[in-house]
Amino acid sequence: MGMLENKLSWSKTRDEVFRECLRKYFFQYYGSWGGWDRSATPRVREAYLLKKLQTRQMWAGDKVHRSIRTVVEAMRAGEVHPDVDAAAARLLDGMRQDYRDSSKGLYRGDPKRYCALFEHEYQATLLGEVWKENARNAEESLRNFYRSEVFHKLQGLPKADWLEVEQLATFQIDGTDVYVQLDLAFRDRDRIVIYDWKTGKPDRDQSEIQLACYAAYAVEKYGVTPEQVTATALYLADNSERARTIDTSTLETIRQYIRDSLDEMRFLLEDPDKNAALEDAFDYAEDEASCHRCNFKKICPRWTGAGTPASI
Ligand code: SF4
Repeated sequence: MGMLENKLSWSKTRDEVFRECLRKYFFQYYGSWGGWDRSATPRVREAYLLKKLQTRQMWAGDKVHRSIRTVVEAMRAGEVHPDVDAAAARLLDGMRQDYRDSSKGLYRGDPKRYCALFEHEYQATLLGEVWKENARNAEESLRNFYRSEVFHKLQGLPKADWLEVEQLATFQIDGTDVYVQLDLAFRDRDRIVIYDWKTGKPDRDQSEIQLACYAAYAVEKYGVTPEQVTATALYLADNSERARTIDTSTLETIRQYIRDSLDEMRFLLEDPDKNAALEDAFDYAEDEASCHRCNFKKICPRWTGAGTPASI
């Protein structure tokens, strides 16, 4: 494999981190780069490990996504998919195993292989009932997927109409890659239908940007008009849906949003041509509340009291 190059790209997650805290953005996209390599500096290795931490809610959401993916991929392949009880049992077994691995700190030896929970790394004191509720929510989300309209629709979907299942994809804005990952996309006559599974609470603004990005991608990838794309967020907590259709003017608005966001990201770089960044150029979050749920608090100079090391 050739050398990996840290290229500037855009995704909704990247934009969210950028808006929450610039220093966190630095750690996530620059300060942890190369930390998978044993020859990296200890601080880069630590930043890489901390980047892998998931809060219990993110972890539950990830496990639900993986479970649904297994079911949907089996349906796409025309194979027998696990029934709801088998899928739920497998989900809960996986969560128990992850919990044990994380509580033993196995991720410190191999952060790529083992689940790393924020609550364990930062020794949050949580009652067992909180973890149980987290698992119950995950199970209920998965069971709701089996009850959803789209699950029933997929049972009869012709093979030729399946398009994407959680496939990492890109489209370009002015030569920069924009990353998207559609949980599901299929054709419905002359329309493209996209689904995004949501396990968290509805956040209208973030959801609007995300769904518009998916639509922008589908327009390019499948050569359809914006009006032919429906992007839907399915909230698995209660099976409510928010469907979004965009027009040409909204498409241009989202493209401009991404251009402006990329300009702001480039502005802070030491050398935009090389995508090179210096830590001190990235300010701390204005609101300290962000710090209490931040993966990088352990190495952030705001909290360690140390200055920024000359070399991260
Ligand atoms: S601890 Fe606070 S200031 Fe430091 S990176 Fe995290 S959110 Fe930003």
